[in-house]
Amino acid sequence: MKPQLILLGAPGSGKGTQAARLVSELSYTHISTGELLRSEISSGSELGNRVQSIMNEGKLVDDNTVLELLSSNCDLDTNAYIFDGFPRNIEQAKLLDDVLIKEHASKAVYFDIDLDKLAERLINRRTCDDCGEIYNLLSKAPKVEGVCDKCKGTNLAQRKDDNKETVVTRLEVFKNTIEPVLEYYESQGKLTRLDASKGADGVFEQLENTVKN
Ligand SMILES: [Zn+2]
Repeated sequence: MKPQLILLGAPGSGKGTQAARLVSELSYTHISTGELLRSEISSGSELGNRVQSIMNEGKLVDDNTVLELLSSNCDLDTNAYIFDGFPRNIEQAKLLDDVLIKEHASKAVYFDIDLDKLAERLINRRTCDDCGEIYNLLSKAPKVEGVCDKCKGTNLAQRKDDNKETVVTRLEVFKNTIEPVLEYYESQGKLTRLDASKGADGVFEQLENTVKN
């Protein structure tokens, strides 16, 4: 049985791409709490109704409810899951262990990347509004400035939350909340730090080694 995998990394560190490969190449099941919340609501279950009413009040779904949701949707005896986006902080990490993972083998993987470089990358990201192609003005600029290589559209936009101030704040918050989480997993000998600057194949190779060893 493969270990349950907890993916930790800043937005833009490449976690999403690698999660997709873990699913297609190593048969992992990807857990997105956002998707679980939506499907639980549409199932009309008692839990789903409770979640719906929390959201109707404009509140965030609390950690205990998220754990209840995970517990009712995950069977760790038969499946290996990727937890991505949860836990985000030390309280959630402990709760996930106490309520769900318990004695099951698990590993935490941190997508280690220089946060200043990451900020630069995010600030220079542009997305084609017409076809969704993603560019980077530093490393993958469109051949003709302002024109999408793929669909020739001219709406290459910066995402609202990719402006400099927002990116820097977001990464600082991330850094402060992730440090205790990394220490927590490290103290249990469960943490692997991947060099997330290695390119998609290089990172996946490190991931495979982590899963298999
Ligand atoms: Zn396009």
